[in-house]
Amino acid sequence: MTNRTYSHSHDEFARACQFIPGGVNSPARAFGGVGGEPVLIDRGDGAKLYDIDGNEYTDYIGSWGPHILGHQHPAVRAALDDALTRGTSFGAPTVAETEIAELLCEAVPSLESVRMVNSGTEATMSAIRLMRGHTGRDVVVKFAGCYHGHVDSLLVQAGSGALTHGNPSSPGVPKGCTKDTLVLTYNNTEQVAAAFAKEGDKIACVILEPVVGNMGVVVPSMEFLKTLRELCTKHGSLLCFDEVMTGFRVAYGGAQERFGVTPDMTTLGKIIGGGMPVGAYGGRKEVMNSISPVGPVYQAGTLSGNPIAVACGLATLKTLKETNPYPALEEKTTRLTSGLKAAAEKAGLEHSLAQVGSMFTLFFNPEQVTNMDVAMKSDTDQFAKYFWGMLNRGQYLPCSQFEANFVSVPATDADINATIKAAEETLTEIAG
Ligand code: PMP
Repeated sequence: MTNRTYSHSHDEFARACQFIPGGVNSPARAFGGVGGEPVLIDRGDGAKLYDIDGNEYTDYIGSWGPHILGHQHPAVRAALDDALTRGTSFGAPTVAETEIAELLCEAVPSLESVRMVNSGTEATMSAIRLMRGHTGRDVVVKFAGCYHGHVDSLLVQAGSGALTHGNPSSPGVPKGCTKDTLVLTYNNTEQVAAAFAKEGDKIACVILEPVVGNMGVVVPSMEFLKTLRELCTKHGSLLCFDEVMTGFRVAYGGAQERFGVTPDMTTLGKIIGGGMPVGAYGGRKEVMNSISPVGPVYQAGTLSGNPIAVACGLATLKTLKETNPYPALEEKTTRLTSGLKAAAEKAGLEHSLAQVGSMFTLFFNPEQVTNMDVAMKSDTDQFAKYFWGMLNRGQYLPCSQFEANFVSVPATDADINATIKAAEETLTEIAG
């Protein structure tokens, strides 16, 4: 372990706390779940992050998913530089918006038509409104532990920050907003079938993370995904995959390509913006034609399809298409997760590990995590020790047990080896 100091981060965080609630602009980055204060980041380069004290880290967050290509990829930088020479925003259509829409429709099986927005939250919020408006039904089925952004109607037993902070539904969300939200258990096929049998004709849509990232990584059973598809078709409800995290991550065409189950609607974010504030929602044309200005369901945005954000996203997606990094990235991730498992076993710590493609979670939990009830049995104290031990050894991991780690393309074999070594040392220390 190198001798790291964090004094500049400490001082700047204290200053931030005077002017920003909790010193952060999103609670997930507050290090609250691991009992401490965050480091402030100065810059990123490839797979590396540098904090304001000059400490170097291998980045396993990638801005919580977007940076599959790492920081400052040359093609992305060039596209941004070029876009900046022409202006930041016009509030008028541009050719690049058609290019990214075309590329998304080619890549993601369910997309025939797509609308760009500014965040994942906006994507799911808009998709829910559209699916309700299109079907003329109100009930939304979601799964405990899945996070779909801070949309009022979906902030019920949400995962991610809300789960970490032990505050599943938020004050400020009126009961009326969630009374039509039915929360079921992930991977529980029988329960969903029973819900459809009881009130299938009222269900507008089922929304889920097709691979969960927001209670830590949870793998869907094929039976679960297939049953959801069948039930939605049978009852005239719409199936929506929230691929904000999994889109262009678990496969180029997302989880729907990887598992071969095609939803009616898809929400996207993170990677499709390459690190800029971007989201998108889309699906079958027949459904998308219900959105304004074609149809009656309203949704709009001053900065939607913003030229800088679109240029950044487009360069990221084109690079992914041209280079197809997915097989090698998965292999590299598997080498890392095998090393982590071996380290936990050697230290004699109870654990389970879930991985899909280049996203994974090491759970301090002897059970394979299949849903939120199992996830909640994880030993979060042990996780906190792991987190700090890794941070002090130059490994920037998500600051919560209930988040996904992301491996990036520029992470080298030497980086992976160093992470495994850091885990061996940290886990042995924890087992003490
Ligand atoms: N859906 C999923 C699956 C997510 O992981 C997230 C963010 N982590 C969101 C929606 C919300 O996206 P944003 O934070 O961009 O609003």
